[in-house]
Amino acid sequence: MSDAPASMTSAGEAGTATLDDPEREPTPRSSDDGGLPPVDELLTAAVAALGGAPRPGQQRMAQAVARAVDTGEHLAVQAGTGTGKSLAYLVPALRHAVAHSTTVVVSTATIALQRQLVDRDLPRLAKALAPLLGREPTVAILKGRRNYLCLNRVHGDAPEEPEGTALFDAFELSALSRQVRRLHEWSSDTETGDRDELVPGVPEQAWRQVSVTAKECLGMSKCPVGSDCFAERARAEASRADIVVTNHALLAIDAMGDAPVLPEHEVVIVDEAHDLVDRVTSVATVQLTAAEIATAVRRCGRLIPEDIADRLAEAGDGLALTFEDLSPGELLALPPALGGAVAAVRDAAHACLSAFGPNRREDAEASAARKMAVSGLDELHDTAVRLLDAFEPELTERRDVVWLTRPWGDGPATPPALRVAPIGVGGLLREKLFGPRTVVLTSATLTLGGSFDTLGRQWGLPAGPRPAAPVDGVATEEEPPRSDGPAWSGLDVGSPFDHPRSGILYVARHLPKPGRDGLPPEYLDELAELVTAAGGRTLGLFSSTRAAKQAAEVLRERVDVPLLCQGDDSTPLLVREFSEDPAACLFGTLSLWQGVDVPGPSLQLVVMDRIPFPRPDDPLATARQRAVAARGGNGFLSVAGTHAALLLAQGAGRLLRSVHDRGVVAVLDPRLMTAGYGGFLRASLPPFWPTTDPGVVRGALERLRRAAED
Ligand code: SF4
Repeated sequence: MSDAPASMTSAGEAGTATLDDPEREPTPRSSDDGGLPPVDELLTAAVAALGGAPRPGQQRMAQAVARAVDTGEHLAVQAGTGTGKSLAYLVPALRHAVAHSTTVVVSTATIALQRQLVDRDLPRLAKALAPLLGREPTVAILKGRRNYLCLNRVHGDAPEEPEGTALFDAFELSALSRQVRRLHEWSSDTETGDRDELVPGVPEQAWRQVSVTAKECLGMSKCPVGSDCFAERARAEASRADIVVTNHALLAIDAMGDAPVLPEHEVVIVDEAHDLVDRVTSVATVQLTAAEIATAVRRCGRLIPEDIADRLAEAGDGLALTFEDLSPGELLALPPALGGAVAAVRDAAHACLSAFGPNRREDAEASAARKMAVSGLDELHDTAVRLLDAFEPELTERRDVVWLTRPWGDGPATPPALRVAPIGVGGLLREKLFGPRTVVLTSATLTLGGSFDTLGRQWGLPAGPRPAAPVDGVATEEEPPRSDGPAWSGLDVGSPFDHPRSGILYVARHLPKPGRDGLPPEYLDELAELVTAAGGRTLGLFSSTRAAKQAAEVLRERVDVPLLCQGDDSTPLLVREFSEDPAACLFGTLSLWQGVDVPGPSLQLVVMDRIPFPRPDDPLATARQRAVAARGGNGFLSVAGTHAALLLAQGAGRLLRSVHDRGVVAVLDPRLMTAGYGGFLRASLPPFWPTTDPGVVRGALERLRRAAED
């Protein structure tokens, strides 16, 4: 094993890697840190208590995070798998929280990481550091209100009919009521009411019957069961905690909403930061559907005059009819009929809201019914207004993109929805997230094409991050002050893996370009040869469900190894089966590109069928490309290239999960070598030893297989 040196990027490329200086002075204690030991000392104690070994990348990262927290300058840290990055940010975060009696928020994209932090890392760390911090720090987890069971709904009225009832047959409805019954029983057993603790889970339709959004909630003081409310209890616990673990969606709602939902905080650590923009975009995306209008009508029907509610129902029918005449996809202009239908929804929702009149003293049940109805109408009205406003500016000046959904993938057709999403979220993040707080962003993949600039632009930060500041007392080149946005630095602490010695990047340059109609026969031949050479042990990452299924079907005929395909069973079960049987292969799509962590001989070959560009008809990617091109940039490279680079890096990152792992990342798409953008994409991948020679790679896989079988 050799540790890659810390590398500074962008403005830092020419700079000095001063954080590597072995002669550096320890970080001095600042006068207002409560006299707590410095971060190095805490990290050493934590690593010793948790049974680990000191890791240079982890130490560099912990120092940089501590400095960012102290100085208030934002920091982006790329830390490869195996760095121990959660400890590297949790130690300075805990120190800061205890020293200043404040809360530090840690945000993750996935439930898996949330669980790891809350159930494993933080409790052990808090115990280990308690003697040095003077007390045991406290930790809480906080999610959006929709994630907790609402006791008022459970004890209230009979469940309402689900949205789109017409689509449900009697069998589905009885399955739904069984699920809702199960949730009612669970409500008296659960201590947290947290949906993620319900195993197995329930479909969204069932969960909606026992949960409320923040707007639908009565508020603790008005709710008859407010003192027992799970969501309120979680919030109260969070308000007392040193560290609050949350998800990117709630972080975005807290930063951008009208009222804070997280406890007051000055420091945010965003782990899995490569996903931040997508998660924030999802939070800021809304839709209008006939089913949602029907639900709003049902909810307000008994509370306002019938003729006014009927007007909304008619507007919903009109919208559904208009959808039938439109093709799915992005709407560059607002068709007059659709504009009329959306305006009718807006006006009818407004009329319904006005019909409620002033809020009188009502019993709890009536209050709850009113709240549910009003919040649904508010949402309809605001969505319709936003949809209509989206078309006002010139095409290249627009902030929102509007599209009519199509039934994607191989699943059952879904009814059409008119969606509106922000073209960019950088401005929002810059103003609402980076403006009032110090933000540390981290992930194994933050530099694309060797630079933090691409993701920095998406976060709304000025180009050319400075290298992370040096430790005190070590000279460095002076940087001119920046006036064009929040100050931030980028630091790549490298990886404990020796990529060129541990892995091969094989690009099948001799294959044809990928086509539109499934996998070409040459791809299937190549795949069969690679899997045979590796003796299974293959994770196949495909750009579509259709391609994954096609590959699985063909290879089941040709190779004599167990072949698992996403969709055959639940993904966690398939991943477990794959990890337990070294001869098995697992083929699948998007969630496998990012979520598989299988160290050891079960995974020695990662195959990607094609460069994972967004679909050419993806409305959001298309609108983003257009916006970049209008500003004189390269829309394709900035949007599609960035998307592909992130996914490629994530996919390639599945190969080495421990320092003992060895293997091959094989990309069947020759454009990675031959296209003009290939260099940018290859520079976003870990520095594996590259080859385009199929004989070399098959030989390497056979040697690895024999070594694993011995
Ligand atoms: S306070 Fe809100 S979320 Fe909690 S039980 Fe009452 S209505 Fe439900």
